[in-house]
Amino acid sequence: AVDPRLKAISESIRVVPHFPKPGIMFNDITTLLLHPGVFKDAVDIFVDRYRHMTISAVAGIEARGFIFGPAIALAIGAKFIPLRKPKKLPGEVISEKYVLEYGTDCLEMHVGAVQPEERVIVIDDLVATGGTLCAAIRLLERAGAEVVECACLIGLPKFKGYCRLNGKPVYVLVESR
Ligand code: AMP
Repeated sequence: AVDPRLKAISESIRVVPHFPKPGIMFNDITTLLLHPGVFKDAVDIFVDRYRHMTISAVAGIEARGFIFGPAIALAIGAKFIPLRKPKKLPGEVISEKYVLEYGTDCLEMHVGAVQPEERVIVIDDLVATGGTLCAAIRLLERAGAEVVECACLIGLPKFKGYCRLNGKPVYVLVESR
């Protein structure tokens, strides 16, 4: 049976055509955050899924992974690791570049944020091509961590991003366009 909470989650995400540029259907989760019950349901679904998987770290992708990741981490008793855009972290970092529709971007993580063998989940708001999650997985694996799963509120099936993650599972709450 489909979880009845997913309908409200799906309906509370605003889709804005042609933002930030022509042709992009922007899925805006800030409208979901305005409904505390729906916000809590989204976090709770992830918490229920991960609380018994011996996850020691939740890695959130800047910026919208920073909204959901800490709430999940606190609830399951895991640490939170921010994966940031270049030149934001003050300590020693490792970096992974990834390809965007136009150009490239990069994610960075502090050296020492995660120890070898730690079981980690990666969280972001949305998976499209999967390029961003893939860079996050590479960062964590270079540090010796085990990425158990990637978690997103929204998946865009048209990009088939689910296949781009080198066999790592992606768990999404709802699909969008
Ligand atoms: P990708 O690397 O192609 O899977 O893109 C995922 C990243 O870009 C996530 O951090 C998303 O927040 C952002 N993103 C990509 N496409 C969209 C979209 N249509 N609406 C909102 N965010 C998006």
